[in-house]
Amino acid sequence: MPVDPVCGIELDEDLALLHEYDGKKFHFCCNGCRRIFIKKPRKYKNKN
Ligand SMILES: [Zn+2]
Repeated sequence: MPVDPVCGIELDEDLALLHEYDGKKFHFCCNGCRRIFIKKPRKYKNKN
């Protein structure tokens, strides 16, 4: 199960929002979390 690196919840891969950063795919529960990640990707990218 993919985990949202911003809020930490487990996601359904089919429903999650996808964002690619640094060659890796990250999944998000909502556009808000995705935007937070895009602003500060270095804070979250190791939390997957
Ligand atoms: Zn989230």
